[in-house]
Amino acid sequence: MTARIDALRAGLAAEECGAFVSVAPPANQYLTGFRGSTSGLLVTAEHAQFFCDSRYTEQAGLQVTDCEVEEVKGGIPALLGARLKDLGCRDAAYDDTVMTVSQMRAVERGFEGELRALPQLVSGLRQAKSPEEVEQIRAAQALAEGVLDDVLDMLEEGIPEREVAARMEYMFQQRGASGASFPTIALFGGRSSLPHGEPGDTRLARGDIVLLDFGCRLDGYCSDLTRTFAFGTIPDAWFEEIYELTLTAQEIAIEAIRPGMKGREVDAVARHLIAEAGYGAHFGHGLGHGVGIEIHEGPRLHAESDTVLEPGMVVTVEPGIYLPGRGGVRIEDMVVVTGDGCRNLTSAPKEFKVLAS
Ligand code: ZN
Ligand code: ZN
Repeated sequence: MTARIDALRAGLAAEECGAFVSVAPPANQYLTGFRGSTSGLLVTAEHAQFFCDSRYTEQAGLQVTDCEVEEVKGGIPALLGARLKDLGCRDAAYDDTVMTVSQMRAVERGFEGELRALPQLVSGLRQAKSPEEVEQIRAAQALAEGVLDDVLDMLEEGIPEREVAARMEYMFQQRGASGASFPTIALFGGRSSLPHGEPGDTRLARGDIVLLDFGCRLDGYCSDLTRTFAFGTIPDAWFEEIYELTLTAQEIAIEAIRPGMKGREVDAVARHLIAEAGYGAHFGHGLGHGVGIEIHEGPRLHAESDTVLEPGMVVTVEPGIYLPGRGGVRIEDMVVVTGDGCRNLTSAPKEFKVLAS
């Protein structure tokens, strides 16, 4: 973690800023190794101080490296403000996309200097992953793929969506994940047109579309994967058409990815193909997002993203076509940008498949 704190210090120096404060679990995990939900971190050129309450002292002793750990009573944001004052800091950086207004005000009350919103300081560092981080993400994806294999064998007529989602989340934990990386999406039939629908009581019937979007969190890193199937028989000719179109759009976008490309350029590759086929209005979301400590992080692959891809960045590629009331298709893989292209971290098959036929 020393290298990460040093990289943060280099960022502070470039901004001519004296300190960094954070109460955000993802940033604090990245910089210290701590995986608990409540903590504070203060970094200056000379100091790296980690704060937690008594619930987390033992855990911090096991997980936190390269920081002084201090157990505190009372609110951590106010304490960060007081410590900034003690250290004589004139200004401090914080991430205004994650710190709440009340936390920010509590820091400000203890401290006479300026709080500066510099959200990219840590989230920018987190975008390009180390080889070890890529391996952790790949392992999380492999675990989720094993669960997909097994849940497909359990699909039978009459099973409710929520039962499928619950079984998948049970298997994630049973196999070593700390849990799902986001609430599992399992949608049948016409409900597959809801890009982020919530699994309900709908029961599986022959001729249904089955859309599964899921991932797990393993050793602090997330995975993300979507597959769409038909169950029993093919729903209708239009389904196979939008399936093949979505798959082609995904494959050409993955082939296009290389360092130096902007997020919006990758998005445009898939979007152009889908629009040319007349389904542009039915692909409303961005093509993909970064994955790491958080399920959604930088870089984004969407129409407004100017982020330039670099080796080590892990992104999803997930075009979808959704026809309201009829059904939808999404196909999602995670890839890592390499020196001359990208490597797919996903190996689950994605050819058109009719389950239990
Ligand atoms: Zn997903
Ligand atoms: Zn995703």
